Amino acid sequence: MDISIPNRRQAQIVAWLQENDTLTIKELVARLNVSAMTVHRDLDKLAADGLVRKVHGGAKLVTAEAASGETTVSPSCVMCNTAVSPRTVFTITLDDGRKETACCAHCGILRLSQLDGVGSALTPDFIYGRMVNVFRAWFVVGSDAQLCCVPSTLCFARNNDAQKFQQGFHGEVMDFTAVQQYLIQSHMN
Ligand SMILES: [Zn+2]
Ligand SMILES: [Zn+2]
Repeated sequence: MDISIPNRRQAQIVAWLQENDTLTIKELVARLNVSAMTVHRDLDKLAADGLVRKVHGGAKLVTAEAASGETTVSPSCVMCNTAVSPRTVFTITLDDGRKETACCAHCGILRLSQLDGVGSALTPDFIYGRMVNVFRAWFVVGSDAQLCCVPSTLCFARNNDAQKFQQGFHGEVMDFTAVQQYLIQSHMN
């Protein structure tokens, strides 16, 4: 594995936040056995990627609810109008700060093809559940695992995970550009 130490630490922080909601800097320093400055640097990096939010003296995970604004009702998909599950939620932030939510990568990627001025687009890694930048992610399209729209479009941060998943559940591994073209075409037919 070529994952560097800071990356591994940051992945660990995200994993802990998925279990704990909020962690203080002090707790992270103790758990990771690094300096507070290192923890701050890791959190700044994760915050820049849109994965965590720094709160007073600690950090919180950017959850599906937080990412889609302070709304109390769970949003419905901007494309197909079905209820959005946190397992597959796809969040688009536009350059002007507006946010849109799609039910899964299938609808989200189609929606991206209709939009200009997209700032970021995030969806959970299918295995690890942490939010990933969809433009750098890998997708398994048309596998046997159907959670939402068909063809099923599942997101993976690492190509290797996508390949392994594909071996068991079939479908095809694609990068963002390929999957977008594929979905646009399958919708026109
Ligand atoms: Zn949808
Ligand atoms: Zn969907």
